[in-house]
Amino acid sequence: MLYKEPAPIKDRENPFESMMSRFNIAAEVLGLDEETYNVLKSPTRQVIVNVPVTMDDGKVRVFEGYRVVHSTILGPSKGGIRYAPDVFLDEVKALAAWMTWKCAVVDIPYGGAKGGIICDPYSMSAGEIERLTRAYTQSLVDIFGPDRDIPAPDMGTGPREMAWLMDEYSKTKGSTEHAVVTGKPLVLGGSLGRVEATGRGVMVSAMAAMEKLGMDPSNSTAVVQGFGNVGSWAAKLMAERGVKILGVSDVSGAYWNDNGIDIEEAIEYKNGNNGRLEGFKGAEQMDPDELLTTKVDVLVPAAVEDVITIHNVDKIQAKLIVEGANGPTSYKADKIINEKGIMVVPDILANSGGVTVSYFEWVQNRMGFKWTLDRVNERAERIMNESFERVYAASQKYNVPMRIAAYIVAIDKVAMTYKYRGGF
Ligand code: NAD
Repeated sequence: MLYKEPAPIKDRENPFESMMSRFNIAAEVLGLDEETYNVLKSPTRQVIVNVPVTMDDGKVRVFEGYRVVHSTILGPSKGGIRYAPDVFLDEVKALAAWMTWKCAVVDIPYGGAKGGIICDPYSMSAGEIERLTRAYTQSLVDIFGPDRDIPAPDMGTGPREMAWLMDEYSKTKGSTEHAVVTGKPLVLGGSLGRVEATGRGVMVSAMAAMEKLGMDPSNSTAVVQGFGNVGSWAAKLMAERGVKILGVSDVSGAYWNDNGIDIEEAIEYKNGNNGRLEGFKGAEQMDPDELLTTKVDVLVPAAVEDVITIHNVDKIQAKLIVEGANGPTSYKADKIINEKGIMVVPDILANSGGVTVSYFEWVQNRMGFKWTLDRVNERAERIMNESFERVYAASQKYNVPMRIAAYIVAIDKVAMTYKYRGGF
């Protein structure tokens, strides 16, 4: 139920600098003026809180937490809350900025934000996590709000924490405020289709890119790194469209089948095996590092950051990379990918199906009316396809890779809105 990414990250770049390097290229191509550049690169607000929590042993521990609002130019800021022992301010800043760009790419009326608390949720009791979540909410009650800043789950948090956050916020306001947070349990106003939304968006992006590259899905092969929420749904939905998924991996290892892995079977196995593929009989085990560099048509990194780096990018043979994870490609690897002519559907486009359906959850909460699953999927698919076309058109117009094109589309929209709204 918790959203977690347990594996260590090799060659990790400073995430904020990595984001800024791409931002700078796009800003230069666009000819962004200095004033707007300075506004867009600087987070609007960075809050550090220290929240005291009574632990189960009766002692009080103080936890450091963050909320960074990168931008509210397009609308209320939106972004998850991460509970992890190694969360740090630069990471939260980068993730907040990515949210601004992601929402702008898919053209939804949100700015970007992100939060985090330095803690190890896997060594804490449910009661401790609940008190921590409520204390953090109290300390940020003036920042959060359905029209101000709307949190969601991220690593180490899930529907349970969102329910506590919504309840604590509602108690303070004296009214039930469903729309203050997304990613809630269904019974509390969550949206149908949210769980699979990111993987579905990855599939839609993959299909759109394959069409541009003249690849026939039913004649194509793929590997998917990460078999959690995003990876398993992306693999399942791509397989349903005829793509042969030759390899998948998770923290337990990588698995390969020359005839294609039966994804339904793998998901069923994982669900009965504590979320892991370990011991899966429908495939042979292989070296997880080789999974990324093996000869397939499509590579879907859907696990953690910085897995495609200068150390392995030379060996990558896929024609298309669709980034399910946030930041799976290091900035330094971009250049070689471009030289090799590999098309990348970047994270801020490929995995934006999640925030799109979070937006639908907020819309439904505000209307007080639930949509059917078909309506959610149909609208999300339309938004993903339109966004893909916008980014593709920008890549053609400016003769830049899809990643820079996605930043261009996003920065252009936020900059234009900023100009119309006016500064100080
Ligand atoms: P998850 O915890 O459900 O799954 C992560 C998967 O990756 C697990 O199968 C885990 O075993 C595997 N994994 C971890 N380290 C690995 C490694 N080194 N090699 C191979 N596999 C490894 O998480 P998720 O929700 O699927 O998120 C995956 C990525 O997608 C993250 O980068 C996340 O930020 C991004 N993302 C998720 C959403 C969402 O809605 N869930 C939205 C946008 C972006």
